This record gives sequence, structure tokens and C-alpha cells, in this order.
Amino acid sequence: MTTSQSPTLVLVYQRSTLPWIFESAQRAGIRLILVPRPDEAVTEDQLPPAVVELLPLDLEADRAGALAALRRRYQADPFQGIVTLYDPAVPFVAEAAESLGLPGIGHRAAVGAQDKRVMRERLAAAGLNVPGFVRLDAPQDWAAAEALTFPVVVKPAHGFSSLGVMRADRLTDLKAAVEEVWQLCLSKLGQVAGLVVEEYLDGPEFAVESLAHRGEVQVLSIGDKGWPEGPYFEESIYRAPALLPEEVLRDIRREVVAAHAALEITDGPTHTELRLHGGRHPYLLEMGARIGGSGVSHYIASRVTGRDFAADALRIAAGLPPHAFQPGGPVGEIGAAANYIVPCGGFGRIEAIHGLDELRADPRVEHVVQMLFPGDVVRPYPDFTGYPAFVLSRHATTAEAEEFHRFLETSVRIDYTALESDA
Ligand code: ADP
Repeated sequence: MTTSQSPTLVLVYQRSTLPWIFESAQRAGIRLILVPRPDEAVTEDQLPPAVVELLPLDLEADRAGALAALRRRYQADPFQGIVTLYDPAVPFVAEAAESLGLPGIGHRAAVGAQDKRVMRERLAAAGLNVPGFVRLDAPQDWAAAEALTFPVVVKPAHGFSSLGVMRADRLTDLKAAVEEVWQLCLSKLGQVAGLVVEEYLDGPEFAVESLAHRGEVQVLSIGDKGWPEGPYFEESIYRAPALLPEEVLRDIRREVVAAHAALEITDGPTHTELRLHGGRHPYLLEMGARIGGSGVSHYIASRVTGRDFAADALRIAAGLPPHAFQPGGPVGEIGAAANYIVPCGGFGRIEAIHGLDELRADPRVEHVVQMLFPGDVVRPYPDFTGYPAFVLSRHATTAEAEEFHRFLETSVRIDYTALESDA
């Protein structure tokens, strides 16, 4: 087999309706063995681009069986790497790569990026900016967080998509918040490894897309994520490049590069979320060792820089060097890009979603990814149902993206009918 020209990668739990990673693989000449998400039906006759094979595995119910099946598949016909964009699968992928001798970040780094307790400890040990925090192994330990400065944020150690992340303003709210988050995670995730309680960082939020290769890091783009204030932190907007003074951008890049070293993430893409504490100082919220937003981060970074971020991420996973990788310094920007997450704006059974069809014809809009449809039931926050839709658009400037988002706030609207159980 001509490994270097046409590598094959296993792609774990990627939603096939989010097209970017598949399209990048196709452009890069990389073949994919897709491990379909358990909640999605993908059939052999309708494979996404670049997918040559399906390999159903159940990571959650039978991790050892999934590892064994991967090993058998590898022994029958070796693939060159394994990769995921799905945060909970990052440790599994790192472990599988390690055990098969394939490129990867290693299990230790994967755990550091995925477990918010370990992440906070490693960042603090490296002297990076970290809010006061405590880890809770059981809900009855809540009083361990008493000494923190309020408000605080309570969140699951292994959470993602802001599930179960909740702000508590006063010490008197803490016990109930810890119990609520614990119960919500039990019902939604089936288990809770533990919680983190940390001081609320008051400041605007930013997302940073980077690529690491052999221990060096290039920050590709820094984008604005608004200023969510809680008590629940629904995701809303993402606009890049962020309009910030150069010295703040420099501090963000410095903090993010240092966090890669602290978390020992030497290779592959990362998605970092951070806040500017006091409007000025970057404090990481989290760093994922993967492309963010199931590929949305690729869309943003590639439109802003003109570079095929996902193709480079896949090349690194296959043990190949990324194209045009220049550690450090800022990357030239060729335009602006944005994601608008349509807010649920209510709850009940969805009767109609207005405004999306018009957007599909809007020249600024490149993708409308719809995830909830009429007939679907949206539960009230914090019971996370999912996001109704993403609107991905490209613009000449970030200011134009901002104006476009103001238009979306009024043009996209969801009608609900009350559920009988709520009546
Ligand atoms: P997840 O992995 O579930 O997305 P995060 O730690 O990124 O969890 O938290 C989700 C959101 O909650 C963040 O994007 C941010 O808006 C908010 N948040 C989390 N921790 C803090 C904090 N210490 N201060 C302020 N906001 C926070």
C-alpha cells in the first residue's frame, strides 16, 4: 500500500451531517473508516465523502470490546491513525493510538485535556492563570468550596457543550447548585466522575483554534464568543477574527501556547475557550485536544486564514507533517467568519422554525446545519436538548458578521406548543 500518498484514518463518532472533516479528508486524499455515532444511522450506500468503510463500535457500553475490535481491524489491514472531534472520545482515541503504536497525544495528555480537575491542576502547576477552584468527588462535599470568592461556577469534570454548567451567586446557593448539577449529569450522562467548582471569571469569552506539531504550536485564529453571564451557559455566537488590541491578542497567544506545554499536547488540533478576566487577562476555561464544535472550528479557522485546518489535523493524525506550519506568530487573515447558534428561545414541542429557509438562499450563508425540527421536544434549561441550528456565514469583516447576527436575532424564531405534561 502507498501509505504516504493515501493514508487511512479511523474517525470516531463524527456526525455525518457536519461535512467539513469529510470534505477536508477528501481534499487531502485521506481515506476514512467511520465509527458512526450510536444515535445516527449511516448506511453503506450513503457514505459521507472520503469514507470507505464503516466500523460500528460501542465505546461507552464496551470500551474493551471496542479496543479489541479496532486491534483486529488494524491487524487485518493496518490504518495509519485514529482521530475524533467528539470530546468524550478523546481519551479512548489516545489510548487506542498508543496501544497500536499510531500517532497521538498519549493517554496522559488526553485525560488532562478532558478532565477539568486535572486540567486546572496542571495549568496551576505550570503557573498559568487559573481561577480559585476545588474538586468535589461527591455532592455532599460541597462545603469544600465555601472558601472560594463568589460567584462561582459548578460544572462536571467530564462535561461538554456546557451541559450541567451552572453559576451560583452566593454561598447559600451552593449546596443546591451542586446537587442540581450532580443530578442533571447523572440523568444525562449516566454517571458523574466528579465536579469542579471555580470562581466566576467576569469578562468576555474567546475561542482559539491552534495546531500543534512536535511540541510547537501555531495559533490560527482567535474569535469572539460573546459574554455569557449564566446562570446557565448556552452557547450563542462565534465570530472571528476577534477585534482586540494587538497586545491582548499577543497575551492570549502566549497563554494558549503555554497551556499546550502544561497539558503536554504536542501534536494535533486544539480548541481553547478562555475569558479575559477583568477585560484584560486570559484565563483558560478549557482546552480540547480536537477540532472544536464537531468541525465548526475548522470552518471558522479556514475561512479566516485560508488554510485547510482539518486537513492538517488529519495529516498529523496520520503521522504526516502539516502544510504551511509556522509556530508562534500571528497568521495572516483573509476575511471573517461566524457561527450563530439559533437559541431555543422557549420550550415545548417545536411547531415551526421561521427564517431558516430564507437564510439558505442568503449569499453570506455557507451552511445552515439544522439539528432540531418541527415535532421535536425542547425541555427547559438546564435540561439540554441540543441546539436547533447553526448558521455559518462568511463576511469581509467581523463588524459585518456582527451586523448579520443582529439581523438573525429577529429573523429566526421558533414557535412551540405546550406539552400536555406541562399544561
Ligand atoms: P463545557 O466543556 O461543558 O463547555 P466549560 O468549562 O467550557 O464546559 O463551561 C461552559 C461555559 O460556562 C463556558 O463557555 C463559560 O461561558 C461558562 N463558564 C465555565 N466556567 C466559567 C468560569 N470559571 N467563569 C465564567 N464562566 C465560566
